[in-house]
Amino acid sequence: MNYKKELEDPVFQTIAGAAAQLSVDCYVIGGFVRDLLLGRGIPKDIDIVAVGSGISLAKKVAALSPGQPDVTVFKNFGTAMLKIGEQEVEFVGARKESYNRDSRNPIVEDGTLEDDQKRRDFTINALALSLNEKDFGDLLDPFGGLEDLDKKILRTPLEPGVTYSDDPLRMLRAIRFASQLGFTIESKSLEAIRENNDRIRIVSGERIVEELHKILLTDKPSTGFGLLHFTGLLERILPELVALQGIEEVEGQRHKDNFWHTLEVVDNIAGHTDDLWLRWAALLHDIGKAPTKRYDKHLGWTFHAHEFVGAKMVYKLFKRLRMPLNEKMKFVQKMVLMSSRPIVLAEDFVTDSAVRRLIFDAGDHVEDLMTLCEADITTKNPKKKKRYLNNFKKVREKIEEVEARDHVRNFQPPVSGEEIMETFGLPPSREIGQIKDAIKEAILDGEIPNEYEAARAFMMKKAKELGIEP
Ligand code: ATP
Ligand code: MG
Repeated sequence: MNYKKELEDPVFQTIAGAAAQLSVDCYVIGGFVRDLLLGRGIPKDIDIVAVGSGISLAKKVAALSPGQPDVTVFKNFGTAMLKIGEQEVEFVGARKESYNRDSRNPIVEDGTLEDDQKRRDFTINALALSLNEKDFGDLLDPFGGLEDLDKKILRTPLEPGVTYSDDPLRMLRAIRFASQLGFTIESKSLEAIRENNDRIRIVSGERIVEELHKILLTDKPSTGFGLLHFTGLLERILPELVALQGIEEVEGQRHKDNFWHTLEVVDNIAGHTDDLWLRWAALLHDIGKAPTKRYDKHLGWTFHAHEFVGAKMVYKLFKRLRMPLNEKMKFVQKMVLMSSRPIVLAEDFVTDSAVRRLIFDAGDHVEDLMTLCEADITTKNPKKKKRYLNNFKKVREKIEEVEARDHVRNFQPPVSGEEIMETFGLPPSREIGQIKDAIKEAILDGEIPNEYEAARAFMMKKAKELGIEP
């Protein structure tokens, strides 16, 4: 791998020139070097460590860069950031860190390059490339990171127990990198994560969620969630999911393990969408099944109203993890709530009116809902799988057909409540609501087309039935 070539980029020439003028040594370090050596393309974020003041170096670099970009200084962290073209460059002075038990924030003092490499989470994230004249482009690898890259292993530079206990966020980062890069976490390290899993309590919800997002966005999120489960972290972060694990048997009747099923669904959906929130919906679509599970002598295993219960759990879960309670959350709730609807359709003969109701209820999210339901098929019986997929294909075709004809997506009633009130000289009342509802139902049932004239005629007829005259 000829990584020296990438250092010919003018950005690095400028940084090297600035460092030479200030007589400080500096290095590219961390994710940039890792991704470059892995051939993951040229990363957009560049981290520079200076043996001296990172902030002074950043200011010098800005002064020497075309257009003299602004420098954002984070005084508390001793770091500075600037944008050069598309690239975000972050500067930090080499440091030594020590931790106390209650906080992820270390006590910091100036250090050497090697001190700085030691404080990094994994050997593959501690690799540094020199930007100094004497050894420009040399790789500084005191902990065998290059070999670990080659062997696809995540290993901590220091004792793993200490590394994870000092900053427990690293446990999630380890698992995220394993999922993202397809790496193995060294067994000693994995054991240390297990032992330290309760330390996750000092990590904020926001940081936890950031890593969960990244795991969900990998090609095979089950790798990450499987590791979270194995290490006991999942039980602490998302106990609702762990509660889905296990198979019970009563009178010879078993239900499927909804935890492993869920992970399969998430992997499936990852093959069809990069939408983070749809992937969240896949992860949470069955969470209502744990609290609603019952065994019925006649029906076997039931999960009555699990979609409704699950949608309510989504709110609590988002709130606990300090995720935004906004339209994204509502979208996930809606997907969970509606997650069984297309299945019922696909099992049966697909009628126009059933499809019309599905479009009406799902609105703009009807395609997402179909994607979720297709991912939900995890049967190992190839014949069944084919049949289900085929049925969903029919549902999709029907959706297009009905939508093109009836336009019930984002349905607006063709006759408004005001018009009904005016026509009959009535104030807002129960009757107005009844007439309005009857028009909507008639349209969804296909009794009348979704058009003004037809709706108006239907309104007159319905009013008459209710004994209302204009
Ligand atoms: P990505 O940008 O893909 O999330 P990254 O490794 O670049 O991955 P950043 O958060 O950008 O992650 O951090 C840059 C570098 O800082 C890392 O490569 C690592 O060397 C160091 N680092 C980040 N977070 C930690 C941490 N919690 N503990 C130790 N070192 C860390
Ligand atoms: Mg980075």
